[in-house]
Amino acid sequence: MAAAQKVQEVREVTRIERIGAHSHIRGLGLDDALEARQVSQGMVGQTAARRAAGVILEMIKEGKIAGRAILIAGQPGTGKTAIAMGMAQALGQDTPFTAMAGSEIFSLEMGKTEALTQAFRKSIGVRIKEETEIIEGEVVEIQIDRPATGTGAKVGKLTLKTTEMETIYDLGQKMIESLTKEKVQAGDIITIDKATGKITRLGRSFTRARDYDAMGPQTKFVQCPEGELQKRKEVVHTVTLHEIDVINSRTQGFLALFSGDTGEIKTEVREQINAKVAEWREEGKAEIVPGVLFIDEVHMLDIECFSFLNRALESDMAPVLIMATNRGITRIRGTNYMSPHGIPIDLLDRLLIISTSPYEEKEIKQILKIRCEEEDVEMTEDALTVLTRIGMETSLRYSIQIITAAALVSRKRKGTEVSVDDIKRVYSLFMDESRSTQFLKEYQQEFMF
Ligand code: ATP
Repeated sequence: MAAAQKVQEVREVTRIERIGAHSHIRGLGLDDALEARQVSQGMVGQTAARRAAGVILEMIKEGKIAGRAILIAGQPGTGKTAIAMGMAQALGQDTPFTAMAGSEIFSLEMGKTEALTQAFRKSIGVRIKEETEIIEGEVVEIQIDRPATGTGAKVGKLTLKTTEMETIYDLGQKMIESLTKEKVQAGDIITIDKATGKITRLGRSFTRARDYDAMGPQTKFVQCPEGELQKRKEVVHTVTLHEIDVINSRTQGFLALFSGDTGEIKTEVREQINAKVAEWREEGKAEIVPGVLFIDEVHMLDIECFSFLNRALESDMAPVLIMATNRGITRIRGTNYMSPHGIPIDLLDRLLIISTSPYEEKEIKQILKIRCEEEDVEMTEDALTVLTRIGMETSLRYSIQIITAAALVSRKRKGTEVSVDDIKRVYSLFMDESRSTQFLKEYQQEFMF
């Protein structure tokens, strides 16, 4: 039992790590003509794959992806997960993104199809609308739609009906006028004096400004003056179908969401939830937000899983399924048949295939530079060059990991910037894959006895 819990914990940590490693990705970085900019929205190079992903995004937006899925084929560390994440980001802020490895579904805690069902339902969002009172002094997020004409103030997560919300409307107008005078940046918390329209900056908000840059330059946080907003607002929040399942599952309860140990969920519970969500949709209280489900190492799935995927893709609530592999022709697990990427022909028929290629030195350097910025790490140019070489010779992921450890070493010696020595130190402390294999080979005799 305890051991099972440990495994679960480790798995949760890996999941967080896997997403954290891509926190710099904010979209696919394409221009209006769907051409990939060399460096944009945290994305570097891999332009052909990104362009292809952009075309698929258009298909998704036009509802032309039903029954199909995407396969990204390419060597490890060529940005397959990053591209999937970029697609989810480009689909919208509240688009659910689930990343898993094919091997993860072979767990002892639940059956394969249950694990896949949970992954699918984690990737389907339900946007629920509710009306509530605005509380005094509450921080609301105001997004001005068209600053030039100043029509209505749209409130980020909350959409305010301007007809009923003169206060907000006025605030919106005042904000438009004042923002042009005051240099307020995205992410600032500001106070607006309703009478004078004067804006006072209270400092940076709790979330980094660049997170809000991704939402568009017009997004501001506004701290409303006391007693100002005593009206009703429409609150919108997005939860996943899986979260609703867990909360309504009598054996599990919502606390299971925190431990991640949700176990199997009964079919009846899911049927009830589906019926309820359908009812909310009809009443206009909710809408479905199809998310992205990313399955890495898809060749690890077996024939039963592939049949499940085939069926699941037909559902009208299916998320966008993106699979990835680095295998060519290989055996389909659970059979004696060989097939491209280890995927059965009937599923292969439904796939749009994108391929990724290895990075050039300058692209690796650029990605490492972006990761330094993301982790707020200052690094000397020489250190970055050395790290780039390490990235070329080992793997991109290994060199990204060095950044955090080297920053720690640098801080310990009270340095302000990561130096070449800090990088060398970490390089000698932590092995990359090829050095550790070499080490094991050399000391195999000792390990055996
Ligand atoms: P694997 O097959 O081993 O799962 P992968 O192809 O999915 O690897 P990623 O995990 O996406 O590779 O890439 C490794 C790291 O490099 C991640 O932190 C990722 O965000 C970053 N990265 C990869 N490609 C790019 C890119 N084109 N632009 C910016 N960052 C990238």
